[in-house]
Amino acid sequence: MKNKIYLDNASTTKIDDDILDKVIDYIRQSYGNPSSLYKDGKEAKKIIENARIQVAKAIGAKENEIYFTSGGTEADNWILKQVLNSEKKALVTSKLEHHAILNTAEFLSKNGVSVKYLDVDKNGKVLSDKLEKMNSGEVSLVSIMYSNNEIGTIQDIKKLAELAHEKGAIFHTDAVQALGKIDIDVKRDGIDALSLSGHKIHAFKGIGALYVSDKIKITPQIFGGEQERGKRASTENVGGIMSLGLACEKINDEIENIDKIINLRDYFIKNVLENIDGVILTGDRVDRIANIASFCFKDVDSSLALILLDKEGISVSAGSACMSGSIEPSHVLQAIGVGNEYIKGSLRFSFSKYTTKEELDITLETLKKIIQKVR
Ligand SMILES: *Cc1c(COP(=O)(O)O)cnc(C)c1O
Repeated sequence: MKNKIYLDNASTTKIDDDILDKVIDYIRQSYGNPSSLYKDGKEAKKIIENARIQVAKAIGAKENEIYFTSGGTEADNWILKQVLNSEKKALVTSKLEHHAILNTAEFLSKNGVSVKYLDVDKNGKVLSDKLEKMNSGEVSLVSIMYSNNEIGTIQDIKKLAELAHEKGAIFHTDAVQALGKIDIDVKRDGIDALSLSGHKIHAFKGIGALYVSDKIKITPQIFGGEQERGKRASTENVGGIMSLGLACEKINDEIENIDKIINLRDYFIKNVLENIDGVILTGDRVDRIANIASFCFKDVDSSLALILLDKEGISVSAGSACMSGSIEPSHVLQAIGVGNEYIKGSLRFSFSKYTTKEELDITLETLKKIIQKVR
């Protein structure tokens, strides 16, 4: 049997063995409800509060500013819906956001919120001119992702936050892809709210968090018990929360070693561009997240290439959503203006701390053959 080569880490990641062992050891021996007052319950509560400190530390926040959620999607939904409670019902976001933001924005626009979408340039950098022209006090929330999940472009978050504040708005960023790869500091960068997710940083699926500055009063996401300081009821996902805390504890180390992933990414990009004809790199060459190499291949059906790669044991992602049989090019590739012959041939290779050069060499060789075959 061939070894599996997993190059879809922007989709999800392998759970860190060390984290998995620790969480399983704990949940096997202790299962008390964190709201209970006996020993097992108190222990669970302690694990949650310790994880909250670990998450807060990873982004330069205070622990009372962290709310655990079911993932990045819920965090995005929760913060965007705050616009419904503000007097000035206006949201500014970008054309490059994840569907967790875009589909919530669409819901809001059907419920009386005015939504403006900032354009992006050909590298996926957000153009702020539409926001600059708005009057101060006109917009309540600006939400721009830290780095894009399809093409890896990193935004100038500090500058965008400053601009949002000049306009009297709260600034939120979806940092699901950025966490663990970029040094995030919400206070340094003026970020008022931030979404993060466990399964993109080697923790469990179904766990995430929303950071909200304690200067901002948010309305509850789920009504019920007193969990998450009354803002998000339901018995806590203790194992998931523990895994997220442990993953956040490793983030400093991972960022210190990020050059290893950057070197692999650049090695891969260089080889694809030099050895395969009719291919473009999508996203910014410099302001690019450490672990994403994304391309569009001319006259290639990316879903076919994906299937053939899978047959060789290589997991990657195609930058197009297959909707009821027809392939719709992704909104991100449309927003950056990828040409017609290229837009259906997008493939994303995303790496992690487990990726090796040997895996990339096998992938490069296989990819070259497959692209030739499908053309
Ligand atoms: C994966 C992802 C999400 C969704 O996170 P979940 O935890 O899967 O809900 C949101 N935003 C971005 C940018 C992502 O990459």
